[in-house]
Amino acid sequence: MKLLELLYPPSCPLCGDVLREGTHGFCDACRKKVEYVKTPACEICGKEIAKARYVLCEDCARRPKHFVKGFPAFNYVPPMNEGIYRFKYHFERCHASVFAGEIVKAHGKEILSVAPEVIIPVPIHKKKLMKRGYNQAEVLAGELSRLLGIPVDASVLIRGKNTVPQKNLSPEERKNNLKTAFLSAQNRVNYRSVLLVDDIYTTGATVEACTERLLEAGVSEVYYTSICIGKGY
Ligand SMILES: [Zn+2]
Ligand SMILES: [Zn+2]
Repeated sequence: MKLLELLYPPSCPLCGDVLREGTHGFCDACRKKVEYVKTPACEICGKEIAKARYVLCEDCARRPKHFVKGFPAFNYVPPMNEGIYRFKYHFERCHASVFAGEIVKAHGKEILSVAPEVIIPVPIHKKKLMKRGYNQAEVLAGELSRLLGIPVDASVLIRGKNTVPQKNLSPEERKNNLKTAFLSAQNRVNYRSVLLVDDIYTTGATVEACTERLLEAGVSEVYYTSICIGKGY
């Protein structure tokens, strides 16, 4: 273990700096900058809302969601954006345990109180999986499972056709783009309640598309959790 740590000293999942000896998780500088999602938060998607008199964010008020509730831990602002990028593309899957720990710290109690039977990661397309070597949502789901004592089932949802990158599309286009992107691997899914896991919730189109497939297959309640949530949609 010591030798491994000499070769690969633990680094901050967000900025990549080597950590002070004996520390782990986010480095001091990043710890100061990260923004946990504060209350008041949208009662559906969990996003921060500016005006305390509202219970829903603008997006959920305008476009009702099919999932019951979301549990995002952080706002998607620097240095979290860099951290997500590293987690996705730099083979830094080892940082999943830090992110999962943060999610549990922020929302573990609430998640356990709604008692999902199973954790289901948002799937990625086979081609992407081959290129990247892992699905970051699945790695995160595994760590959450360990901490929460809820099993993971990564065989329920599959990613269908490879979609156009979402970031260049409007919310409406994203929704259409994703309609056929997710499939339920089983006609009938035998879970009553499910916790979906993804690294980031932006417009919610991905979580919505997965939720719709799960409801069609017989699931009654879908919740989601993510490391972070985009601000301002
Ligand atoms: Zn850092
Ligand atoms: Zn919302």
